[in-house]
Amino acid sequence: MAKLILNRLSKAFEAGGRPAVNDVSLEVRDGGFLALLGPSGCGKTTVLRMIAGFEQPTDGSILLGDRVLADASDMVAPEHRNMAMVFQSYALWPHMSVADNVGYPLKVRGISGQKREQKIREALNAVRLEAYADRRPADLSGGQRQRVALARCLVTEPDVVLLDEPLANLDRHLRQEMEETFREFHARSGATMIYVTHDQAEAMALATDVAVMSEGRLLQVASPQEIYARPEGRLVGGLVGQGAILKWPAALLENRLLDWDMLQQSLSHTDGQDCADILVRPQDVEIAGEGMAATVTSVLFEGERYALKLALGDEQNLRAFSRQPVQVGDRVSIVIRSAWRL
Ligand code: ADP
Ligand code: MG
Repeated sequence: MAKLILNRLSKAFEAGGRPAVNDVSLEVRDGGFLALLGPSGCGKTTVLRMIAGFEQPTDGSILLGDRVLADASDMVAPEHRNMAMVFQSYALWPHMSVADNVGYPLKVRGISGQKREQKIREALNAVRLEAYADRRPADLSGGQRQRVALARCLVTEPDVVLLDEPLANLDRHLRQEMEETFREFHARSGATMIYVTHDQAEAMALATDVAVMSEGRLLQVASPQEIYARPEGRLVGGLVGQGAILKWPAALLENRLLDWDMLQQSLSHTDGQDCADILVRPQDVEIAGEGMAATVTSVLFEGERYALKLALGDEQNLRAFSRQPVQVGDRVSIVIRSAWRL
């Protein structure tokens, strides 16, 4: 196996039209787990389909190690890429047992007998469905069906597993359970995985690396922790975590990570200055005796705490948490402990 490389990859569905994927360069290490995150329509599925071989790039190339899989003039057929794609709809054969569904790709490849049986057993083991081999898909829950679809893709031992919003049809509880299954599946199979989602929490929880896309372009690739702590620009900052973006006088923002001291200084130099965007996380906003005046505009009880929206001055909004009950319309005093300059 080898790393997967996207090299200045572009796809325009119409000649001269706005490209659906625009100059995307990315490397996924062997055995890595990358989440491709972005709003609906930003080009995620198109990237995945190019990797799988269902679409040809109009520019750039895709490589697995030194092997060129596709560029604008040539491409390796999907069945010769040793990749597997799992879709949102799991597309199981209803008339076949779970075992036969899982074994189907082997049958197509002419693998039969003992070897087939053993591979099916291993694949079902990997998704903890050993006991369900003889059932029909109709007798399984949504989560179990999704696991059958995973086992079916694992059975061919693909180098790369491509998942396109595989949990989008499941309810919240099941999604959390399945996130666990995906992580386990990744750890056990050792396959390189690319997981497309528009759900930032899912991307952060699952993957070892997150690639954020918007309007066909790649904005940032980093670990979930890095993307959360040091997002590049407003779009990533707004997409990941529950931050609020504030305008702040730029002159005194020397560092990107801003501490309380620096934020205090800026506040006293506000008049007629150039402003920069800063990202403030709710856990960094403290409701204190002394500080800036803010008005509570929304209160959501979350059990352990209250999640607040606050208005700061006329135009700025902020999020904060409070342990004490607070009412809409209350005036509070806040201190921002730290922030990140976008
Ligand atoms: P995402 O998966 O992030 O929602 P897609 O990759 O499906 O985004 O789509 C990206 C853009 O490309 C959209 O504007 C979509 O309408 C367009 N697009 C996708 N597939 C095709 C196609 N086969 N023909 C023309 N336009 C397409
Ligand atoms: Mg899509």
